[in-house]
Parts: sequence; C-alpha cells; structure tokens
Amino acid sequence: MQKLDPYINVDPGTMNPYEHGEVFVTDDGGETDLDLGHYERFIDENLTKLSNATTGSIYSSVIAAERHGEYLGKTVQVIPHVTNEIKNRIASLVAEDVDVVITEIGGTVGDIEILPFLEAIRQVRLDVGRANVCYIHVTLVPFIGPTGEQKTKPTQHSVTELRSRGVQPDAIVCRSESPISDELKRKISGLCDVDPSAVVNAADAASIYEIPLVLHDEGLDQEVCGILRLGGHKPDLSAWRKLNQRIEDANETVRIGLIGKYVTLPDAYLSVVEALNHAAIYHGASVDIEWIQSESVEGLMAESTLSGLDGIVIPGGFGERGVEGKINAAAYARENNLPCLGICLGLQAMTVEYARNVLGLTNAHSSEFNPRTPWPVIDLMESQRQITDKGGTMRLGACLAKLRAGTKVAEVYGTEVVSERHRHRYEFNPKLRSRFEGQGFIISGESPDGLLVEFIELATHPWWVGTQAHPEFKSRPDRPAPLFCGLLEAALDRSRSRTAARLSTETAQHIKNISEVSVG
Ligand code: GLN
Repeated sequence: MQKLDPYINVDPGTMNPYEHGEVFVTDDGGETDLDLGHYERFIDENLTKLSNATTGSIYSSVIAAERHGEYLGKTVQVIPHVTNEIKNRIASLVAEDVDVVITEIGGTVGDIEILPFLEAIRQVRLDVGRANVCYIHVTLVPFIGPTGEQKTKPTQHSVTELRSRGVQPDAIVCRSESPISDELKRKISGLCDVDPSAVVNAADAASIYEIPLVLHDEGLDQEVCGILRLGGHKPDLSAWRKLNQRIEDANETVRIGLIGKYVTLPDAYLSVVEALNHAAIYHGASVDIEWIQSESVEGLMAESTLSGLDGIVIPGGFGERGVEGKINAAAYARENNLPCLGICLGLQAMTVEYARNVLGLTNAHSSEFNPRTPWPVIDLMESQRQITDKGGTMRLGACLAKLRAGTKVAEVYGTEVVSERHRHRYEFNPKLRSRFEGQGFIISGESPDGLLVEFIELATHPWWVGTQAHPEFKSRPDRPAPLFCGLLEAALDRSRSRTAARLSTETAQHIKNISEVSVG
C-alpha cells in the first residue's frame, strides 16, 4: 500500500502536527503520512519509506537527476519527467510477492497540486494494460440538515473534473454521515457512468475497525476483484468479526488522561489513541480518553485535573510549551500511584521530574529546553550536535533494546530483546545515569551497546514506565503494544479498587441509614 501526497514538503517530518496530524514512523525510519499507520493496522504488514511520496520528494529526485546530467540536455518538464518519477514511485512497490499495489492519492480532485498525479495514474492504465488497473474514487455525500437531504452534487462535480483529466472511475465509495439509499446510489451510478454495483457506501461507523465489514457488505471487494479479474476469492473475515464483537462486548470503561500539547487535534496522537484502543480491546474494556492540555497541569492544577483518572499517557512532543505540565503530571503520577506511561518526551519529562524532586538536582532539565541547566539529565549525543539539517536527521526507525530480567517492562514484553521505532534527538544523559540507579529508579532496558537508556520504571509503583521509543507505531488491533497493555492493566486495577471502595462506603452508609430508621 502506498500514499502519494501532493504537498511540497519532502516528507511530513518537519510539519507541525496541527498542519498534518501525527507523523507516522516506519521500521526503516521513514517519517510518513499518518495514513500509513492505518494501512499497517489494517493489513498487518510493516511498510517502508517507499510507501509514501510527496511532490517535494518527487521534485527532489527529478532535480537531482537533472544536476547529474541524466536527462541528456533535454528540457525537464512536468510531463514526462515529473509524471515518470511518480510512476517510478508506484512501480517501486512491485515485487515477487506483491499481487496488487494499492496507491492512495491524497488531496482533492480540483487542487492544483494534484494534476501531475492524476496524469500519472492515467498513464499507468495505458502502461500496464486497461484490465490491470482499477480506479476507485472516494467522495463525500453531505447531509444538509434543515431539509434532511443527502447531496450527490459534490460527487458529480468531482467525477466530471476527474474525467476531464482522462480518468473515469471504475468504482465510487461514498462517504456519508448516515447510510445512503439505493435510489441515491442509482442516481450516482447514472450520472457518473459507473455500474450500480460499483457505487458503494461507507457510512460513518461506531468503530473504524467495522469499515472492512461495511465495505464487504457493500460488495466493494467482489467488485474490485471482478474489475481486476482476480478470481472469485472469498475473504476470511472471521478475525475481523471477532475483533468487532470484542469491541461491542466491552463491559468496563477505563479513564485515561492524555497529557498533550496538540489536544485540540486528536489526529496529532492518532497511533497513541489506537494503541490505547487495542490494549482496551485486549482487556475486554473500552477506553475513555480525557484530552488534557499539558499547560493545565502546571502549578497547583495537577490534583484537580488528574485525580479522577485511572491512568495517564505522556506522549511525545517537540518544543518547550507545556513541558512543565508534563513534568508535573509525571510527579503527580509517581506520588499518587497513578499509572503512567511516558513516551519519548514523556520518558524525558519523567526523568527530569525524578531528578528534581527525588534526587534533589535543582533545576535539572533537558538541554532542549534549558541549554544552561546545571543538570542536563536529557541531552544531545555527540553525533547529534554536529547536525544542522532538520529533515530526516533524528534517531529514526526501529532500534533494538535489551531488557533487564525481572522488570515490569521485561514481563509485559515477555522477551529479552525488543525492537521499537524511534523519532527523537535527545537522550537520557549517560553521564548522569549512575545518580539515578539504586534509588528505586530502574533502567529496565538499554541499547544493545549499553550506551542509551531505552526504558525506565520504578520499583515500588504499580506502573510508572517510560520508553524512549514510540511503541504506539507497532500496535495492531489484535496484537496490542505490550506497554499499553501494562498501562491499561494497572489502570483497570485502580478503577476496580476505586469502584469497590465507593461501593463499600455506599453500603456502609446504607446500613447506617437503615439502622437509624429502625432505631427511630
Ligand atoms: N523533543 C524530544 C527529542 O527530540 C522528544 C521527541 C519525541 O517525543 N518524539 O528528543
């Protein structure tokens, strides 16, 4: 699977999450569009950098080739040079064990930036043979409130625009808030010249994991296999059905606070949210996420903001805003036995908290936020100091870590060596490591050479665990990331014991009332 993005950034790595949501990291260190996360979660395959290309990366290749003299003196143009490069990116996924390449083109038909991509996919049909390509167009069928009507006009317009670029869709997937009628599908079929059976509806579902079942019920799979002449396969959707059944059957809710900086755009933490959902599905529960602006945990606000929660996640992030709130949240969690999972910047905030409040290292900080701190407990490694280029230069992609036997982290992973994906510049400062160890602070995993700290935990806390990696990227609906499972288990314990405590106070009060009544 592949996503082509028409914007000009070379990759989304340098974009603010408010612009583009989360940056998804692949095993091979690609900083990619968050849709790749969906692809991995749905098809359960690890993708690579090749699965995402932007206009910026395509032009970079074309311009580099021109500088190398590869165009032999020709004028370099959008057609054929840029379109050829787009086609090369699509072809780069072709391999012995690949039957079908699914390429999604981002953006909207009608955008200026999308034109070379539409031209390239038009040409692909000619290159590989008409019968070997299926164009699926995804459109929105909006619901106009006051009149209660669903409108087909946007679909008609975008299909007209697409055809003017030489692409006639073979199938149309209509997204809508509520289901659309067969009559409306027939209307779209007639107006857009697409077989009625190839107009399918993806109405909003309660869970994203229902969508494969919805599309199957709508017949999209059969339709596409028919168009591509792939034979009459019957999909085995039993695992998906079971997963959805578990989601429906969840009979416990756990409240997790997500202490973030970009909380008004939940897409900024998409994989974290999905990893929490996967862990909840595993435990037969559902998760209620409380979005907490990290600045609101600064000062004396921690108690009122965090006391009602069963657990917290302190996710990754960049830049100083909200960091003190994350440090405060880590301290509150440690002091109040509140389960806490720190991810990347989260681990760094936990380390700073512990240094300041337990080890007494006054003004300890990460040198990212206070370059003059007397105690840079989080710092740049020598290799990172030299780097000035911002694109693709962090510690990126899958790295191995060896775990310390007997720790909580080793227990939930159930193995000695793990591989998780990274995306950060700063590290736990190895020069200050000895100050931490032996005080109940446990380094539960480190890089194979022993230089870098990868996991931390506390000996006497139900779950105060930090990781320098991003385990959320490898979480799958039926194979949740172990650290998220550990967090949810501790959070469920807390929620159950709180419910039990509340019930026993209520019962005691009830008995007291009854005895007062009978005495009266
Ligand atoms: N800003 C921190 C660093 O670069 C953490 C990054 C992250 O959380 N992904 O090390």
